[in-house]
Amino acid sequence: MPVHGCIIGGGLAGAMLAWRLASQTRWQLDLLTGGPDRTDATAASGGAVRCYERDPEQRRLAALSMVELRSSRTLRRWARFQPVESVYLRSDASGIDAEIAEIETLLPGSARRGSAEDLGALGWVGVPDGATAVLERVAGYTAPDALRAATLADRAVRRRVCVLAAPAQTITLAESGSVAVTIGGQRREYDLVVVAAGAWTPALLRSSRLPAGGYRTKSIQYGVYRTDGWRPSQFVDEITGLYGRPAGDDGLLLGLPTELWGVDPDRPPDAPALANTAAALAEARFPRLRLGRLLSTARAADCYPDDPILRIRSVVDTVHFLVTFTGGSGGSVKTVLAASKLAADQLAGAFRPIGQPSARSLTGGSTS
Ligand SMILES: Cc1cc2nc3c(=O)[nH]c(=O)nc-3n(C[C@H](O)[C@H](O)[C@H](O)COP(=O)(O)OP(=O)(O)OC[C@H]3O[C@@H](n4cnc5c(N)ncnc54)[C@H](O)[C@@H]3O)c2cc1C
Repeated sequence: MPVHGCIIGGGLAGAMLAWRLASQTRWQLDLLTGGPDRTDATAASGGAVRCYERDPEQRRLAALSMVELRSSRTLRRWARFQPVESVYLRSDASGIDAEIAEIETLLPGSARRGSAEDLGALGWVGVPDGATAVLERVAGYTAPDALRAATLADRAVRRRVCVLAAPAQTITLAESGSVAVTIGGQRREYDLVVVAAGAWTPALLRSSRLPAGGYRTKSIQYGVYRTDGWRPSQFVDEITGLYGRPAGDDGLLLGLPTELWGVDPDRPPDAPALANTAAALAEARFPRLRLGRLLSTARAADCYPDDPILRIRSVVDTVHFLVTFTGGSGGSVKTVLAASKLAADQLAGAFRPIGQPSARSLTGGSTS
């Protein structure tokens, strides 16, 4: 007997989870992609991928994701992967060798510690004493929107997933133990509901009178500049907060974190001064860089839970199978391959083959 599931949200998280579940035979899924006229995080994303992250779990998921991306020509094609080396400048060196060793175990020859000389050769100046860098050979950037579209067009998804371009209006817990979702005024009951609505997740839970604590939203923005000649490789500069990557033939994407928290994802605000600050910081850090005009800007909101990991979290109890799969925190393109695989395995383990929920088998408590 199939398990009837509903995934609310067709961003990269929801789409990849649907794709993972579609390869397991027991699911019959509805995927609700919401309204048509929204810029979600997946559509706005810079798509940068690398293994190195400060957070150990993010680093593990990012490295496992990179291993899968590297070994799958199909995923690289779907994601339009562009390889480019990555530099992550840290303000200190504490624990860095062990962190690099973790990446090296999964991707031998990719990561190493960069010296001041290495950074100088890569065009960096003004790096303070004590700072150190993680240099990664296997890194690059992707087109998350294209990866989502290719995933949803895959044969396994078309066979087992009913994609509905409609929003979930409310979620209710049925006495039978199933979870009901109202779609276009009609109530549908499911064995399992996954809320993968990114930055819309807390508002949907709140409007359904469900616990929504522990999730915050934040605005992310960047600009793409024309460059004249030399440009740096992909980088994160932890000292200034600046990050960037090549874009197209002669563009450079530059961004700085905003401090715009608690935003409405339908109207993510921008911080207009950040574009000029980012350009000035980039020209100071890379004296060979000649920035031309601002070609485009992008902004959207992402969901930031207390622990900044894209993973399954229970919303209520172990009787009702209502979970979230969100937590991008501005970085889940890097982790989504491994995170969606882990999530699908957890969900599969939570249901016995005959389709009966097995209580207490989902990990992660309510974030309320
Ligand atoms: C500007 C920007 C740049 C970024 N750059 C990078 C980067 O370089 N590298 C990196 O690793 N990460 C990056 N990220 C982070 C990454 O893109 C996000 O973490 C990821 O795309 C989040 O995917 P998601 O599916 O969780 O959310 P989203 O992509 O926001 O998708 C959520 C979906 O849920 C839908 N939805 C909402 N409410 C409902 C409802 N009631 N019913 C049905 N559907 C609903 C929405 O319409 C939306 O399609 C960036 C993010 C932003 C915003």
